[in-house]
Amino acid sequence: MADINQNFLKLQAGYLFPEIGRRVAAFQAKHPDAPIIKLGIGDVTKPLAPAIVEAMHQAVDEMGAEAHGYGPENGYAFLTDAIREHDYKARGVEIAPDEIFVSDGSKQDSGNIQEIFGTGCQVSVTDPSYPVYVDTNVMAGRTGDADEEGRYEGIVYLPASEENGFMPNPPDQRVDMAYLCSPNNPTGAVATRENLRQWVKWARSNDAILIFDAAYDAFIQNPDLPRSIFEIDGARECAIEMRSFSKRAGFTGTRCAYTVIPKEVSGRAADGERVSLNALWGRRHATKFNSVPYVIQKAAAAVFSPDGAAQTAAQVADYMQNAKLIREGLGAAGFSVFGGEHAPYIWMRTPNDLSSWDFFDQLLERAHVVGTPGSGFGPSGEGYFRISAFNSQENVEDAIERIRNGFGE
Ligand SMILES: *Cc1c(COP(=O)(O)O)cnc(C)c1O
Repeated sequence: MADINQNFLKLQAGYLFPEIGRRVAAFQAKHPDAPIIKLGIGDVTKPLAPAIVEAMHQAVDEMGAEAHGYGPENGYAFLTDAIREHDYKARGVEIAPDEIFVSDGSKQDSGNIQEIFGTGCQVSVTDPSYPVYVDTNVMAGRTGDADEEGRYEGIVYLPASEENGFMPNPPDQRVDMAYLCSPNNPTGAVATRENLRQWVKWARSNDAILIFDAAYDAFIQNPDLPRSIFEIDGARECAIEMRSFSKRAGFTGTRCAYTVIPKEVSGRAADGERVSLNALWGRRHATKFNSVPYVIQKAAAAVFSPDGAAQTAAQVADYMQNAKLIREGLGAAGFSVFGGEHAPYIWMRTPNDLSSWDFFDQLLERAHVVGTPGSGFGPSGEGYFRISAFNSQENVEDAIERIRNGFGE
C-alpha cells in the first residue's frame, strides 16, 4: 500500500481561489444574468504587448528553421544578461550570470525554495501573506496542525496591521527562514529602505535567510523605494530574491520568472560546515527542471527592449491608474483603504465589522463584484478584503460605483 504524505491532510480546505470560484459559480447559476465584475484573483487582463508578441513570432520562426532543444539550465544568456543590466545594474546592483535561475514562475520558485532547507527550520511569514509560502511548508512537514483561525503550529506569524503600516518588523524569537514580499500581496504595502535594512541586519545577526518575493517591483512608483533586496548592504550574505514577468509584463499565462541566489548566501550542514545555497539550488534546478522554452525566454527578453519596456510600463501605469481610482473612490465613500500606491492591490477594512467571507458574499449579492477575502491570506487578514486593480478602467469605475451604492453611506 502506498502511504500518502500525511502533511497534505493538514492543509486547510481548498486553496483560496477554487473556493472563490465555487461561490461565484453558485451565484451565477442562481442569477445567470447578473453582470459580475471580477476584481479577485491577481491576474492580468491586458494582452501581451506588441513588442513581446513580435519577439515570440520571430522565435517561433527560428524554431522552425533550426533545432532549439534543451536550453542552458540557468536560462539563455540573452535573457540573464538583460536581467542583470536592466533589473540590477541600472539600480547599482551587480549580479553574476550564474546567480540567476530562470524558471517558469515565482509561484513554483517561492514554493520550491524551502526544499533546500532542513525540515527542522523555523519559518516566519508576515500575516497575511501569499498562501504559497505557508502551504508548501505545511506539505514539507515543517508545521503541526492549524488552529481554528488557520494558524499552523510551528510557523511564526508576524501580524501586518494598520499600526505597523502593514510592514511588520523582524521577529524577536528564533526564525531561520523569513518570507517577505514587497510590494505586498495582499496588503499592497511597500517596504521602505529602512524596513529592509532592519530585516537584513536581523538576518545577518541571527544567521537567518530572507526569502524576498519582488513579483510586483515594477509597480513601485517612487524611484527612491528599493525594488530589490540586493539594494541593501549585506543582503548578498542573507537573501534570496524572486521576480516574475507575470504581473509586470502580462506573463501569467506565458510563464517566465527568475530567482537570484548570490554566491555568498549559505546555510549550515549537520556537521557545522557552511554550504552555498546557490550550489544547492543549482543542483535542484538542474535535477527537476529542464529550462523555460526558447520562445518564452525570447519573449521575456523583449520586455527589456526599448519598445517592450515602454509598452509594458504603459500597461502597468494603466493598472496603477485603476488602483488610484479604487483607492480614492472607496476612500471618499468612507471605507478604510490601504495600499494601492505602489502595488495593484487595495486592502480595505470590511464595512460594519463583517467577516471577510461575509463581506465577500454580500458584495457578490449586492454589487455583483468579486474580490478576495483577507482571511484567505492568513488569520490577521480577517476583517479585511483585497480588491485588485487588474481589470479595465470601465469595469473598475463601474465596480466602485456599485460598491458605493451597495454599502456606502
Ligand atoms: C503573482 C505572484 C507571484 C508570481 O507568480 P508566477 O508564478 O510567476 O506567475 C509570486 N508571488 C506573489 C506574491 C504573487 O502575487
